Amino acid sequence: MFKLMHFLVHRRFFAAVIGIAILPAGWAHEVVIQNVTLLTANRSQPAPNQNVRIRDDRIVEISSRALQVGAGVERIDGRGKFLTPGIMDSHVHVGEPPGVPIGSKDPAHATLHSSFAIQQPRSYLYFGVTQLLDLTGPAEAIVTFNAQPIRPDLFYCGLAPPLDGYPTVFVPKSERYSLMPNFIYEPANADKHPLPQGFKAQDHTPEAVVNRIALSGARCIKVPIEEGFGGARDWPILSTETLQRVRKAATERGLLLIAHANALGMQRIAVNTRVDVIAHGLWNWDLESDKPGVPPQIAAHLRSVHEHKIGYQPTIRVLAGMADLFRDDTLKDPAYLKVVPPALLRWYSTEEGQWFKNQLRKDFDAPDMQIAHIHLKTAAQGMRAAKFLHDLGHPLLLGSDTPSAPTYGNQPGYDTYREMRFMAQSGIPLDAIFRAATINNAQQFGLDQDYGTIEPGKIANLLLLDANPLQTVRAWSLIDKVVLRGKVIEREMLSAERVMK
Ligand SMILES: [Zn+2]
Repeated sequence: MFKLMHFLVHRRFFAAVIGIAILPAGWAHEVVIQNVTLLTANRSQPAPNQNVRIRDDRIVEISSRALQVGAGVERIDGRGKFLTPGIMDSHVHVGEPPGVPIGSKDPAHATLHSSFAIQQPRSYLYFGVTQLLDLTGPAEAIVTFNAQPIRPDLFYCGLAPPLDGYPTVFVPKSERYSLMPNFIYEPANADKHPLPQGFKAQDHTPEAVVNRIALSGARCIKVPIEEGFGGARDWPILSTETLQRVRKAATERGLLLIAHANALGMQRIAVNTRVDVIAHGLWNWDLESDKPGVPPQIAAHLRSVHEHKIGYQPTIRVLAGMADLFRDDTLKDPAYLKVVPPALLRWYSTEEGQWFKNQLRKDFDAPDMQIAHIHLKTAAQGMRAAKFLHDLGHPLLLGSDTPSAPTYGNQPGYDTYREMRFMAQSGIPLDAIFRAATINNAQQFGLDQDYGTIEPGKIANLLLLDANPLQTVRAWSLIDKVVLRGKVIEREMLSAERVMK
């Protein structure tokens, strides 16, 4: 008996030394969070003085009465603190370090890639992001991410671009088809975009591509509907008929259909296709826009998004992350020390690290301030659209699209938080932002059995905050502890300053 007690008392020590995974079967890791205020979408009000028991990776008990805390149970004092579900960011790309040329195999970039691979999951967690959805899901990147010891739960879609369409236009033809093998061949574009040599049409029908993506373990398929931006206007898109076949095949295989679209015409196609989610805000419009609210054409379209219950990710940070390249203080932001590995942060300041900024200078052929202004003006249109949609009663989805371009202005975790701040600046109320970050994403992507609220049976991905996020959006950055599958992590342990120099 004494030996057993001794073992119980020292279990935490044991667990730390030998690893929880090899504790004898039947010995659960248990945590009790005491006297905390619960904020969760399944309750209409904050619930003060609650006690939450976690066993292994699940929440098992919630009570306003004190819970028994046996020996060896980890006890967290929640007095004066707020417990929320962990944040889900439903639009990320974990495959590329922000700012590093896409697909770079330059050996000089190897350190950047490896330091980023180690820090990226920690950076998401640093800002409370415990679930991620990667909308392109390159297999190698998913494996690398999941090989990290501490990481958010990662889900992914498969990307099905039109042959030679966005985003494959940014990849040289010699690498395009191997890098993005699930392209869809569009017979209607065959004169300009014939099937490349060595490929068979039967492997690139909507049905064949959807089938491959379903077999890869993806939950969803993302189809770009993008004719061009910046100077480009002639990228091929899929025909109505082909999009309908994608829709049908996705439904048959149980995959959600996500559309990349951010211009009015493109989003109209997405609505007509009855996609499940539009992965961007509607910002790309050039209409009379000095009045508050949105122009009538935009309003009519957003009403149709609402009517058809299509999920909507404002992704405001896409444009701000471009504008941030042209600010002097971006790389001096103290938050960068927390989320960017030191080697990568140093590289950003080098001449080579400025490549994308220099490319935009060439593309826009305008002074820096003007390039920044163009992007911020577009972002403001997206903010107005998001607010309008919210006012219709539409539940928004939190998605940061990190990184949306090779800009160091987007950073993992930090951008999820900044996206929430932008939503608040758009006039979207804090409780709607709370839902966008938690329950809405869980429900939209079929994950609400496990995530989205604080209830017994759900996975214990939780945040202990020092302030109430229903009173200030900044509370989402006042994180005391992150609970990841029942494991309690002090926030500062996740900082990029804690790993190699
Ligand atoms: Zn994206």
